Amino acid sequence: PRSPHPWMYLDGEIVAAVEALVPITTQAFNYGTAVFEGIRAYVADHGELNVFRLDDHLKRLENSARLLQLEDLPPRPAMREIILDLLQRNQTATDSYVRPLAYKKALLPGFGFGVKLTGVSTGLAINTLAMGAYMPADGIRCAVSSWRRIPDSSLPARAKITGSYANSALAMESAYRQGCDDALMLNVHGNLAEATTSNVFIVKDGQLVTPPLSAHILEGITRDTVITLARDELGLKVIERDIPFSELFSADECFLSGTGVEVVPVTEIDHHKLQEGGVGEISTAIRRIYLETVKGMNAKYAHWLTSVSK
Ligand code: PMP
Repeated sequence: PRSPHPWMYLDGEIVAAVEALVPITTQAFNYGTAVFEGIRAYVADHGELNVFRLDDHLKRLENSARLLQLEDLPPRPAMREIILDLLQRNQTATDSYVRPLAYKKALLPGFGFGVKLTGVSTGLAINTLAMGAYMPADGIRCAVSSWRRIPDSSLPARAKITGSYANSALAMESAYRQGCDDALMLNVHGNLAEATTSNVFIVKDGQLVTPPLSAHILEGITRDTVITLARDELGLKVIERDIPFSELFSADECFLSGTGVEVVPVTEIDHHKLQEGGVGEISTAIRRIYLETVKGMNAKYAHWLTSVSK
């Protein structure tokens, strides 16, 4: 379901995606000193392409960038315009994914492997690709990873730093080798944190429970969307509290939330079946209302959509 779009944005210019190259001495390539976002745009019923919660993603990008001293990024209105323009140029009447990446260049062009942030200039790349749903509606199997989520005191999960994703890659790989689709990661305290590229919810006695923002997790925009829709549209109680590892096995349901995975039910944890391996009612209801909302079928949340053609 993914294919690259022909044009991308690189350091102030629109270039052919195949020609968007950076030198090997780029600091971000050597030390993971880049930050990024993953944003989705959906085609509404009447054919219009809408970006979902664009400003919230740009705000998070700004916060991530501040931490790594990625200075001189275009201001938010300009960023918004670049993304909308790029989606328009790529002429897509398909659901799309947008990947802005702000990265540390080399200390001097083509020279220097210093790890200091001060004095290293900022690069900005944005690319888009056609991407529909890639997770199965009937759920996935997760393994609980032996790799712990990086603690906030070492590398804050709340910032979307590329280097942190080596931690996700280790966890994902071990899950894959166990025949699973994704990994659930615990934090240094042994409580549930998040999955490799998404946040996690469990259902207990008809209520949603999700780790708090202090659990060394990314402040997921989909997490926030799910909490809002569950409370305000489905009348569900949502509790943000620590979830000890063992509690995973007494959950009635479990699902992941993220821009990429959208809302995907988890039917097995460490080969232990939830709901006899089927998808629960609450996960199904959340998934449905989430997809309706991103596709512009929920008028109350029209303020979360930015039309590409505006
Ligand atoms: N946690 C991690 C580690 C992620 O990479 C993502 C994807 N951005 C999420 C959570 C979910 O965040 P969002 O809902 O904002 O996409």
